[in-house]
Amino acid sequence: MPHRRHLLRAALPCVVLATARPTAAATGEGAPQSGRLRVVASFSILGDMVRQIGGARVDLRVIVGPDRDAHGFQPRPSDVAALGGDPLVVRNGLGFEPWLDRLLGAAGHRGPVVTATAGITPRAWDARSHEHRQAGGERRRPPPAPDPHAWQDLRLGQSYVRTIAAGLAAADPAGTAHYRAGAEGYAARLAALDAWVRERIATVPEARRKVVTHHAAFGYFGAAYGVRFLAPQGVPADAEPSAAEVARLIRQIRAEGITAVFLENMTNPATLQRLAREAGVRVGGRLYADALSPPDGPAPTYEAMFRHNVGLLVPAMRGDAA
Ligand SMILES: [Zn+2]
Repeated sequence: MPHRRHLLRAALPCVVLATARPTAAATGEGAPQSGRLRVVASFSILGDMVRQIGGARVDLRVIVGPDRDAHGFQPRPSDVAALGGDPLVVRNGLGFEPWLDRLLGAAGHRGPVVTATAGITPRAWDARSHEHRQAGGERRRPPPAPDPHAWQDLRLGQSYVRTIAAGLAAADPAGTAHYRAGAEGYAARLAALDAWVRERIATVPEARRKVVTHHAAFGYFGAAYGVRFLAPQGVPADAEPSAAEVARLIRQIRAEGITAVFLENMTNPATLQRLAREAGVRVGGRLYADALSPPDGPAPTYEAMFRHNVGLLVPAMRGDAA
């Protein structure tokens, strides 16, 4: 997995500068007298949510940074060190961070842990596209599991925001009004973005609302916005599929009348490019699923990720000229 090693080298902790006061979250209150609330978020999307809600009141570190895969992440000694002093930890849950409990144990972490998906009823997930991440090289069908990718539905994203804001306030009660104001403004933006996504999808004829992606990360998006996402069946996300697997997917693409296949930010693009070439469909671009882009990329925030993904999906499904 050379792409993962490459991405690890590029990883830097995300830190909110003390001087960067947020506009959305500012309530006129200052940071806590004793210093900012230390928060460790498990991956980049949660880190952005914490930043949007807490702004300068929070001293944030993100464990799995932009363009990196949280499912298969291997904690480093610096991650253990970052948990010293028992910061508030914000995680997704639903099995998305299988390494986190071990990391918290290794660090002797005794601080609060907020599970952002608390209260969400998960979709069932056929995790075939992640089966390569299980122990050993053997390919086997995993048992049904909860789908962890709930942030791909902006209404559930608003639930994340409420849960995270409550966790921040519990850990820093003096900041309660600050976090509430930040969360309310942010949730209102996500509600407006949700409406925009629905308007955009509505411009696609219903029969064309289907695409192929490499990793089964869009179940919640598909259910919320009425798009069918087909993942290459039985094809591990970071291994080359066999000729038979490619042939089966090409038949599926043709039978379903699919016009576009999509890359994701952390999978090897070679497979989908080959599929697109052989099936005579186009590669619709690079969708962001489980990680944001770096700040200078097209999806540096949760909101930007939706605008970017929908901006690629809609013209591709409609079959607009590239
Ligand atoms: Zn995923």
